[in-house]
Amino acid sequence: MLGLVDGNNFYASCERVFDASLRGQPVVVLSNNDGCAIARSSECKALGVKMGQPIHEVPTHIRRQLKVRSANFALYGDLSGRVVSVLRDLFPAVEVYSIDESFVSFDGIPADQRERVAGQARERIMKWTGIPCCVGIGSTKTLAKLGNKRAKTTDSGVEEITGDHQLQDFAVGDVWGVGRKWAAKLGAEGILTALDLANTSPDALRARYGVVLARTQLELQGVACGQLEESEPDRKQIVVSRSFGREVVELDDVAQAVATFAIRASEKLRARSLSAGGVWVWLDTNPFKSGAKQYHPSRAMQLITPSADTREVLAMAQALVRSMYRKGYAYKKAGVGLLDLSPCGTQQSDLFASVDPRSTKLMAVLDQTNRRFGRGSMGFASAHRPKPGQWAMRQEHLSPSYTTKWDQLLKVR
Ligand SMILES: [Mg+2]
Repeated sequence: MLGLVDGNNFYASCERVFDASLRGQPVVVLSNNDGCAIARSSECKALGVKMGQPIHEVPTHIRRQLKVRSANFALYGDLSGRVVSVLRDLFPAVEVYSIDESFVSFDGIPADQRERVAGQARERIMKWTGIPCCVGIGSTKTLAKLGNKRAKTTDSGVEEITGDHQLQDFAVGDVWGVGRKWAAKLGAEGILTALDLANTSPDALRARYGVVLARTQLELQGVACGQLEESEPDRKQIVVSRSFGREVVELDDVAQAVATFAIRASEKLRARSLSAGGVWVWLDTNPFKSGAKQYHPSRAMQLITPSADTREVLAMAQALVRSMYRKGYAYKKAGVGLLDLSPCGTQQSDLFASVDPRSTKLMAVLDQTNRRFGRGSMGFASAHRPKPGQWAMRQEHLSPSYTTKWDQLLKVR
């Protein structure tokens, strides 16, 4: 069984940890250059402030009641790492999913103890970090996500999805990976609830919506599927994380791995025509190695101006790694997250740091080249090819790039 632990209104809750005057107040956190609402406390939601709403569009009489804070990613990144550290003490495995969400494994925890352990995690996170969170439990990630949605409305803050009778309570649009567009299309076909989706003919579903939604359906039926990420176009953050092929100890190797993830994350950003306002990096030692010293640092920083330029993301990610790295630990995993995403071209630019138009052109050339000649054809020195056996993913069973690399073309004889 899996759990999804999600910090409630995470950025707004982080602001409250060190400023008691914000508790019980309608808190809104604004994006880079203080443009739009990117987090709202429940009191702020109750006043009708919408996610992504530009603050100047909020009626004056409501704006006067709000406690407004500018995004402080350094604070959020650090608190995120503390939450994860608490989880790692309590659960056999933790997978960081985003700055405010982690999946945890309940393996080895008896069924009748799950809710108690989840409750204990909530209490401890609240006590040790000051962040309120909820836990959804289910046999797959999609079900755990759904449970979390319900958990947010209960007093216990914990909800386990155990059977179909619960699925009928969720609108199909509540299901992870079902965007607004699909929800409307499914609704028109009479597929209104999560249960309807679970019970639809799989063949018809695949034919009409493709493999991504077919996977979601399997997950709703309790069959775990990998690769759920691509089914999430609405995601508020872009996160690229991976385990290293083996543990690495040197700063240069850790930095190189993080550079690769930063480059990949920037590509995804541009593919969705978005800019990022913040960069988040975390590192991890191997929690399964008994006796090894454990370290889970997590830091984030603001970009002065929202950017989709790999060079800027990379420079920030490298600075973060260097500031977090401690000698004497064996690192096993790292992740890079891009925060505060906004559509390209809509940001207000800083008077002293406007976007260089050449940046957009350079990035376009980079992306085109890599699409045409294969990923990594044109790249950055900080992510140069790993020495075999270093941090690179184990790809001993990787098939050749038949179609994208000249030296790997299939030979007829
Ligand atoms: Mg959250």
